[in-house]
Amino acid sequence: MTQGGTCLYNPVCQMEGKTILKVDISSIIKDIGSSLAFKETGSSDIFMQGDDKVPLAVPIVVEGVATCTSDGIYIQANIKGVAHLTCSRCLREYDQEFELSCEGRFQKRFTSPVSSEEGDFVENFALEGDFCVLDDMIKHELILSLPMKPLCSPDCKGLEEHEEYEVEDEPTAFGRKLLEAIEEGSKTNGSTKKKDLGI
Ligand SMILES: [Zn+2]
Repeated sequence: MTQGGTCLYNPVCQMEGKTILKVDISSIIKDIGSSLAFKETGSSDIFMQGDDKVPLAVPIVVEGVATCTSDGIYIQANIKGVAHLTCSRCLREYDQEFELSCEGRFQKRFTSPVSSEEGDFVENFALEGDFCVLDDMIKHELILSLPMKPLCSPDCKGLEEHEEYEVEDEPTAFGRKLLEAIEEGSKTNGSTKKKDLGI
């Protein structure tokens, strides 16, 4: 249980003392079918850790509904924020607003990140005590939604003297993450959460 400031469930949170985006579902967890509306605001640097860097310029806002199911909690959420990107042509940094919706299953007994059922694209996560920790869900959705080759404007002319380098060095961090996310999604077993948390 976590009351007050200390998070007992997330090693990253404990180490860094950072805010993580989570929803307290203790009020609905014992009542299948009940749901809970929530709105959380996350600090801008929550996704700046480790290899999964997604720089966000301002805090992100997550609004959604958590529903108690027989095996855990189902979450549907809408996320708004601003990502800090680097233009793939002129290499200038710029901010891009994003808004996306995502969903995830938070299982009491975590099985695997993806369901074995065909055509089921909802990702699975582990419930952490009485909390749904939304960071990974948001991060995955965000990585998939951001452009592989960000452009500060559609008609960006790029760096004149470096135009010949345009293609080199490209698959940006986001491009690579996209490929990784796709590979990860195709695995049927092995929890990537453990890796993320450094367990
Ligand atoms: Zn540009």
